[in-house]
Amino acid sequence: MKKIGVYIHIPFCKSKCPYCDFYSLSCGQKEKSLFIASLKQEIGSYENVSADTLYIGGGTPSVLTGDEIYDVVTAAKEQFAFSGGEITLEANPSSLNAEFAEKAAAAGVNRFSLGVQSAIDGERKILGRKSSADEISKKIQMLKDVGIDNISLDVMLGVPHQSLSSLKETLDFCIGSDVPHISAYILKIEEDTFFGKNRNRFPFPDEDSVADMYEFTCDHLAKNGLKQYEISNFARPGFESRHNLKYWNCEEYLGFGPAAHSFFKKRRFFHERDLAEYIADPLKTVDDGCGGDFEEYTMLKLRLAKGLREDEVQNDFGFPIPDKMRRNAKPFADEALVVSDEAGIRITPKGFLVSNYIISHLF
Ligand code: SF4
Repeated sequence: MKKIGVYIHIPFCKSKCPYCDFYSLSCGQKEKSLFIASLKQEIGSYENVSADTLYIGGGTPSVLTGDEIYDVVTAAKEQFAFSGGEITLEANPSSLNAEFAEKAAAAGVNRFSLGVQSAIDGERKILGRKSSADEISKKIQMLKDVGIDNISLDVMLGVPHQSLSSLKETLDFCIGSDVPHISAYILKIEEDTFFGKNRNRFPFPDEDSVADMYEFTCDHLAKNGLKQYEISNFARPGFESRHNLKYWNCEEYLGFGPAAHSFFKKRRFFHERDLAEYIADPLKTVDDGCGGDFEEYTMLKLRLAKGLREDEVQNDFGFPIPDKMRRNAKPFADEALVVSDEAGIRITPKGFLVSNYIISHLF
């Protein structure tokens, strides 16, 4: 049986960043302990399922203590017969400490994802991030000292006051940190966030400037050996996120904790964004219907640089890429936003900026 991915959502943060609409709350020890007990109950409810990727995100997993993270990772590894896979932990540099890093490594965590966002202290301050670039460098070294070199850094594009030159400084900071993976996300201003409610108070770069930043990022990272493999993700060869690739390859995963989503046995389901409800009944989920049809598969695959491949479609569905999609791809191919050839259909870095528009027109 194919091994699945496991995602665990830790719904706690010390404070709320102004751009964030992930589900997270501040917490005391009592909430953390109750949450971990419910999480272990939910994990224990799955029998005879094997996983080869585990991703602990949030929220801020590094608000847990070293012992707590050890406990959570060990419970998941044992339940899902984990051996030798990828175990990623998200961390906020400001709350990451040596004890946590050591315990995580001892539990088997072999990959960290750190939220850098910007190496410019002024930009970081606007984003509500507390550590300085120097402190982030020390935290990266701290991870390397406990034997974890597989590190991903998150960078944000479209931050107030950001320019091409300040972005280059941030990217060079990440490249100079000698990490094998960088994620670069365009800031999306969600209505329910502090930025969404106070949009006019901040000098956000305009759309064209952000598009230039995105194209610069793809180009600059490629020149420095970090190849784009997904809309927002860049890696040295062999260091692509195995867990996240499961999402984009339309493979199965189980999500644990409030707000976590799952795709398992052809069904999609999720937990409500409600910690109290999760603590009361961690096995309660909301059914989100059938998953994995050709349309959904195509939408996910086209996020990847390799795109929708003719051989994979044939293998997974038993038919070739439909002629209609090939015809619909033609106008985008003429503008160099898409490549359509014998290998399949894929979106170019320039096309990724309008990928939703392209994908909807392919159907
Ligand atoms: S630390 Fe991460 S999850 Fe928490 S509020 Fe900030 S961006 Fe959101």
